[in-house]
Amino acid sequence: MAKYIFVTGGVVSSLGKGIACASIGLLLKARGLKVTLQKLDPYINVDPGTMSPYQHGEVYVTDDGAETDLDLGHYERFTDLTMSKDNNVTAGRIYYSVITKERQGEYLGATVQVVPHITDEIKRAMKKVAGDHDVVIVEVGGTVGDIEGLPFLEAIRQLRNELGMDNALNVHLTLVPYIRAADELKTKPTQHSVGKLREIGLQADVLLCRTERPFSESVRNKIAQFCNVAPEAVIQALDVQDVYEVPLVFNQQKLDDTILRMLRLDRPQHDLVHWRSHVVERALNPQREVTIAVVGKYIQLQDAYKSIYEALKHGGLAHSASVRVKRIDSEQVEREGASQVLHDVQGLLIPGGFGHRGIEGKLAAIRWARETKVPFFGICLGMQCAVIEFARHVCGLVGANSTEFDANTAHPVISLLEEQQGVMTKGGTMRLGASRCQVQRGTLAHQAYGSEEITERHRHRYEVNNRYRDAFAKAGLVVSATHEPGDLVEMIELPDHPWFVAGQFHPEFKSRPLTPHPLFRDFVGACLQVEAPAASRKS
Ligand code: GLN
Repeated sequence: MAKYIFVTGGVVSSLGKGIACASIGLLLKARGLKVTLQKLDPYINVDPGTMSPYQHGEVYVTDDGAETDLDLGHYERFTDLTMSKDNNVTAGRIYYSVITKERQGEYLGATVQVVPHITDEIKRAMKKVAGDHDVVIVEVGGTVGDIEGLPFLEAIRQLRNELGMDNALNVHLTLVPYIRAADELKTKPTQHSVGKLREIGLQADVLLCRTERPFSESVRNKIAQFCNVAPEAVIQALDVQDVYEVPLVFNQQKLDDTILRMLRLDRPQHDLVHWRSHVVERALNPQREVTIAVVGKYIQLQDAYKSIYEALKHGGLAHSASVRVKRIDSEQVEREGASQVLHDVQGLLIPGGFGHRGIEGKLAAIRWARETKVPFFGICLGMQCAVIEFARHVCGLVGANSTEFDANTAHPVISLLEEQQGVMTKGGTMRLGASRCQVQRGTLAHQAYGSEEITERHRHRYEVNNRYRDAFAKAGLVVSATHEPGDLVEMIELPDHPWFVAGQFHPEFKSRPLTPHPLFRDFVGACLQVEAPAASRKS
């Protein structure tokens, strides 16, 4: 039977609950336990697929094609486990299935209520992921006290009663702020937050205290006493230089020992030697540095391209290099010109995206990279833009465009597959999740993957229009990977350029710190070959 660790947050949001859960997952997996993680999101959207990156950050796509919360990205990156649609459940999905059942008469005339019907449905979702796992880590989004979160916390209370006290525990992530005027760390917000949990019937067993300064034994004891938690279960989650240090910080304070003891599990120690040497030490002591521009639409938002930034970092780790990302709004390229904005970078990445705003800036940036031979990596919309740029400026297809940007072009180079096949539909269907691609030998793509058969995750509607394939080939564009059936273009590259590669899929979702994605690894490698412009060279 699986044991459960419920992780809630208190005081304020953005304390890094997802990273904390992922770190616990890594620690327990290292101890030889079969672990899985689940994110419960209290909002009413059925999934985050339609939510703006401005509000929600990146939409993370799993192998099975679920559009999920970006915390699932942290889970997969830290633990290298594979998440599925069941690992992310929103209040909307819970309500949706309860209401569907009600309409189908499944409740036999009962009054359908939050307790027990919604809470039962939440418990069912939590049990569904248990399978043959030893431990399920369940993260509840939001902070304690949110109205939306209540049914989830009530479901956790009930499930813990059903499982028995030794088979579940509550981890609470909280903040211990430093107040400058008093020169003191304050425990009161933590006390309040734990008290709030207790009101709902949940006693915290472990406290992860985010703090910018290390706290003394007396602070630790005070928190333990006032919050009714064992002193060794009060963990200092000190700010770290690199997120990948978090598991080591927890391990150093024996968090995994404490959890195992509380859950009455016995597994040998593990020193995380690989993680320490191949991830953390490399991240903290880079031998080289490279600056790469990411030109996108949601640039001011830290989380909108989360997996891209992480994958670039992994690519750097493979070369013991640190990747400095210069985030550029594509509209700035439109206003100021590509060479003005990009002169100090050694590589250009164009990430995925939707809608036409900022497209011209991306095209200008790609043209600059193609002509100045600076390494370029296009992802999804980034590949579509590269194809449009090539069609316009190399093939001379004047006005070459995509339906997404211009519905009037007769045969857009990028368009909905249904349109290419003469079937008119509205909106098109999204291609989601993992699918296989065939890689051509003798290409940069094949050099990176070392394989003719790859699997990558997709999230897009538009495809390269195959009617232009011959024209592209004649002008020197190589299609380096395709998808059967349909011979869809999955990857392109330019042989007369040091590294100009783009893919219709999202490789960033499959990159891990210990196993950097081969395309990100080779892209960063190619950027490192470019001599840093004098302006950004270190003196
Ligand atoms: N908007 C484009 C499409 O739907 C690209 C999608 C993406 O970059 N994820 O095909």
